[in-house]
Amino acid sequence: MTRLTVLGATGSIGRSVAKVLMAHPGRFQVEALAGGRDVAALAQMARTLQARFAAIADPDAGPELASALAGTGIASGAGPSAVLEAAARETDMVVSAIVGVAGLAPSVAALGAGRRMALANKECLVAAGRFFMDEAGRKGTELLPMDSEHNAIFQALSAAPASAVERMTLTASGGPFRNRSREEMRHATRQDALKHPNWSMGDKITIDSATLMNKGLELIEAHHLFAVPAQKLDAVVHPESVIHGLVSFTDGAVVAGMAMPDMCVPIAHCLAYPDRLPLPARRLDLVELGRLTFEAVDEERFPAFALARMAMEAGGSAPTVLNAANEIAVAAFLQGRLGFYGISDVVAGTLEGMNVATAPASVEEALAVDAEARRMASGLLLSVSA
Ligand code: NDP
Ligand code: MG
Repeated sequence: MTRLTVLGATGSIGRSVAKVLMAHPGRFQVEALAGGRDVAALAQMARTLQARFAAIADPDAGPELASALAGTGIASGAGPSAVLEAAARETDMVVSAIVGVAGLAPSVAALGAGRRMALANKECLVAAGRFFMDEAGRKGTELLPMDSEHNAIFQALSAAPASAVERMTLTASGGPFRNRSREEMRHATRQDALKHPNWSMGDKITIDSATLMNKGLELIEAHHLFAVPAQKLDAVVHPESVIHGLVSFTDGAVVAGMAMPDMCVPIAHCLAYPDRLPLPARRLDLVELGRLTFEAVDEERFPAFALARMAMEAGGSAPTVLNAANEIAVAAFLQGRLGFYGISDVVAGTLEGMNVATAPASVEEALAVDAEARRMASGLLLSVSA
């Protein structure tokens, strides 16, 4: 039995993790679950999965969670310290799936000797990648990538030693605006941007997929996770989302990770690694698909991607600032307070306004840069066109 803790249990990834667990009764024991605000969903999941501990980040939600779990024997807690407590409890594997930089401190608290972390939260690698990787190494935690592109690359990497890697390529679906002109995208609404063609995900990453910021964040994620230089990383638009990531080797061979787009596939891979779980996921039928297509990323129409690539190349705290400004801008877009291109304008303006020379060397340093960038981005919201 693998003991498992899920941070971000009530989200899109968390619910898919629960689906895989329920399909394999007796194989996993859920130690702890943590969520943000949705008490009812957390309590229901804790009951269904027979968790030992449930934590909700909302500090006022403690009594409601305790009463929803009354009589079950499941312990509970509320507030950020309860989430950290859930993260640090003795377990074999932690799924890191809180959205945004809010996942950084809990993910760091979850690093520990002899355990594994399945990492879905990419923002913690963007905001504090070097520190996070060093800390995982110091603590002796094995990281398994749950993000589909990185999971594909992780699997492809088993084909040869790291010294034989020439290039890594992430694919992007292109999102809902792949064929839209700049003018059409300028007027895109929240509803338009939330219509992802291939994946059903949380709102924040869905907007990041529409701007292609998500692919830029993923380049930075890969840069740290696989210790690969920025020049060896690229992205290609592949609307079918069947190939998720490719590794090119020095002899010209290329190994690609493929599956139908379903997050349960990389989730199951991480949960059972190095075993494989049987999963009733849709099977790849190449004849039915007929063809797979590819396009270059258009950085004119998708400036957020270019900003992320530049932040990766600049290093220091540029990715920390990029991530913070993007979180502010995406939240404002979702609230109807910012236009679609306002997102990349706010991110560009924040990067210009801040000194990004030094990479954060602790959670505290990363969160201090994050807070300053949020203040600047919030100020820019007023001046950037709605
Ligand atoms: P969701 O918005 O669906 O879920 C976010 C989760 O984080 C919820 O459980 C939410 O709780 C919880 N949460 C939010 N703030 C806090 C906090 N301060 N403390 C504790 N928990 C908190 O996001 P997704 O599941 O879509 O994405 C999660 C992460 O995984 C992101 O980093 C995303 O980039 C990454 N990812 C997602 C993919 C997907 O298919 N969805 C694919 C690849 C990567 P509540 O709902 O209760 O407020
Ligand atoms: Mg991805």
